[in-house]
Amino acid sequence: MTIRVLTPHEAARIAAGEVIERPASVVKELVENALDAGARQITVETRGGGIAFLRVTDDGCGIEPDELSIAFERHATSKLRSEEELWRIETLGFRGEALPSIAAAADVELVSRPAGALVAGRIVLRDGEIERQGSAGAPPGTSITVQGLFRRQPARLKFMRSAAAEGGQIATVLTHYALAYPEVRFTLRADKRTALATPGNGDLRDAAAAVYSVDVAAELLPLDAEPQGLVEVNGLIGSPAVSRANRNYISLFVNRRWIRHRALTFAVVEAYQGMLPSGRFPIAMIDVRLPLDEVDVNVHPAKAEVRFRDERAVFAAVQRAVRATLSARTPVPALDAAGPAFQAGNWQPQPAEGNGAASSNLELRDSNSEPRTPSLEPAASPQLPAANDLPVLRPVGQVSNTYVIAEGPEGLYLVDQHAAHERVLYERYLRQQAEGVEELQPLLQPATVELTPSQRSLLATFSDELRASGFVIEPFGDGAYLVRAVPPALAVRGDVTKAVGELLDLLAREDGPRDSPAHRVAASLACHASVRAGQTMTEDEQRELLSMLEAAEHPRTCPHGRPTMIHMSANALARQFRRR
Ligand code: ADP
Ligand code: MG
Repeated sequence: MTIRVLTPHEAARIAAGEVIERPASVVKELVENALDAGARQITVETRGGGIAFLRVTDDGCGIEPDELSIAFERHATSKLRSEEELWRIETLGFRGEALPSIAAAADVELVSRPAGALVAGRIVLRDGEIERQGSAGAPPGTSITVQGLFRRQPARLKFMRSAAAEGGQIATVLTHYALAYPEVRFTLRADKRTALATPGNGDLRDAAAAVYSVDVAAELLPLDAEPQGLVEVNGLIGSPAVSRANRNYISLFVNRRWIRHRALTFAVVEAYQGMLPSGRFPIAMIDVRLPLDEVDVNVHPAKAEVRFRDERAVFAAVQRAVRATLSARTPVPALDAAGPAFQAGNWQPQPAEGNGAASSNLELRDSNSEPRTPSLEPAASPQLPAANDLPVLRPVGQVSNTYVIAEGPEGLYLVDQHAAHERVLYERYLRQQAEGVEELQPLLQPATVELTPSQRSLLATFSDELRASGFVIEPFGDGAYLVRAVPPALAVRGDVTKAVGELLDLLAREDGPRDSPAHRVAASLACHASVRAGQTMTEDEQRELLSMLEAAEHPRTCPHGRPTMIHMSANALARQFRRR
């Protein structure tokens, strides 16, 4: 075979393909250029999901007319002055590849007026070549119009999905930059309809309200920005009351660059472990600030991946910030007068006035909340005790053999005895597994159990975790096993044979994608060993349960994310009885 050098045109096409994969990549590059140019207003207009037409307009510093053609040359950039600067990149762009790559894939018109200039320069490119150049009337800033993307590359065009899907990706890109730059006003107009408009007032919560909803914004907790060494972690995270079915609502930025990073995403998700139901994911917008030379952004042409010099430090800082915020700020759900949980009991009169939530005397925020999601007191309410700092609770009694009524300095608490006990035991088993403190109860008479194939495979998969939790189980041939020791909590529950089978079945159920083996074993054990609803508890047992709960790290939710308690403040009670 003969070796030949690619023509510059061919080489440019290949390189362009790495930068410009779909309409959303064009938007990403152009928005990054606008941000680098110091824009305070960025407007994106699209037609047909950006394939037919796409325009990005900014009010940034603009390009001098005599530099317009250079800007479209490969590797032309105003952002890198020397090679050393490659290791300290402050701007979003630096490779000088976006404009030539876009021009190689579509027809482009660029109009730009630098601040102070009287007229704008205009340049039109077709198939990567300059077709026309001149001046035009335009406001200060830059406007780039891209049409007929991939028209000359039918193979690429075939890979495009529907206009709606491509449009969705564009919205995703804009959403992330809107959250990274709340001081910039972003507008997205798709087929003449405004799909996104942020206020650009510098307040991240307001940007989040525009991107998601006012309700979500109200449930966001600010991260405490105590720097951890070189790493500073800022942003907002959702309270466990708001969750989503996938990870796409976790936005990560490094020095305000939107990145994708599996490990950091995992760090965030894991920090919520035990607070969200299985298969649910948090909302978060987190910016990691660290010295420029601690991070390499020059990993891929699309610049969406980064490498950290010390990834473990970054991982730990993110996880610590999220954890600390959650334990300090997760409020106890307030008793919801209109909510189903409350209507079920008959000791809460409905407010007499007719207009629903607004007339309620309790601090209602959502009278239509579904069962299992009692409305929350305002997330940032400063008088709320920190989660790991539950007030001392005094048991008053038990209702329906299911709930413990307790009194604390903040009013009345209704504690779900099973959920609360589950939380306590869950944390204990997690701790035991981590610290390897084996607490086990040897059986005087080893018990034999017969296991189904799926139970056997669970036993093998989780053998380490089960051993660390206090199980000693040995194969005995033909699907039979010998149980020599169990965790003490299991021993007191009687029938060990039944207990082991039940536990393995619970393990099969605990299978959210985010769940670590340790979590699954701890949650299953906790569920199995904890007191059931309908079980009578003596006053001493109630007191013991409450004091164990007070000592828990995250006392307010069970391992599956359901609340362990609901709270009715002294204030709310007083108002309900019209004492004030
Ligand atoms: P890079 O962003 O990596 O420098 P680009 O190809 O994206 O490369 O852009 C080339 C140059 O064109 C930039 O360095 C910048 O000087 C100029 N430029 C591009 N877009 C804009 C804009 N919206 N406002 C001002 N200058 C711009
Ligand atoms: Mg650029």
